Amino acid sequence: MRIAILTDIHANREAFEAVLADATARGATQFAILGDIVGYGGDPGWCVERTMALAKAGGVVVRGNHDQAVYDPSISLNETARAAIQWTARQLSPEHAEYLATLPLTVREGDRLYVHSSAAAPGRFNYLLDTEDASGHFAACDARLGFCGHVHRPRLYSMGAGKVCSFAPTGQTPIPLLAQRRWVAVVGSVGQPRDGDPAAGYAIYDTQTCELCFHKAAYDIEAASAKIRAAGLPDSLAQRLLTGK
Ligand code: ZN
Repeated sequence: MRIAILTDIHANREAFEAVLADATARGATQFAILGDIVGYGGDPGWCVERTMALAKAGGVVVRGNHDQAVYDPSISLNETARAAIQWTARQLSPEHAEYLATLPLTVREGDRLYVHSSAAAPGRFNYLLDTEDASGHFAACDARLGFCGHVHRPRLYSMGAGKVCSFAPTGQTPIPLLAQRRWVAVVGSVGQPRDGDPAAGYAIYDTQTCELCFHKAAYDIEAASAKIRAAGLPDSLAQRLLTGK
């Protein structure tokens, strides 16, 4: 089974649709959404609806900090993100907001743990940015494989004999997640990549071969950017889609 792992969609319908099509063409039959379905982008309602449909079809969905910020003002966000969330909350139906509020912070499926930020205090939404953070993740759970988002830049960490190492994956190359090591993959963002490549990022994990592959899918960035401007959201959010930074 191939599981497409998507995170940080951030209300970017064009990127979300492109990734779903790309993943399906690559044989993905299951979907895991690692949170931040909304925030920043111009299509929050559509993205929540699509996520609900994927969940109904057996997909995994966990909650991100932007999803929580829709109904929980105690979540800390910078000024731009706060402005976007206030607009987002006005676009969503009560059913959408309720759905976001019912999402779990983590989902465990066999040897896989799905979480937005890290297994170390998932509700605090700390970033998993280096080998020390990865050690904290490994210490906080016993899942051999972890998948998270939140950072918007892809990175893969692994631990063997108590030592954690990391590398920046290059796209389209399947990486065997060797059984004698533990792994945590930070999957790049679908809807607001920050790795310098504006194409939508995601990953596919193959449960048969135990290989993980990071992918990038081209999408209509201009259209997504235009919707952000039309909504009157901060212009920097439209701009950064074009650069992927
Ligand atoms: Zn995010």
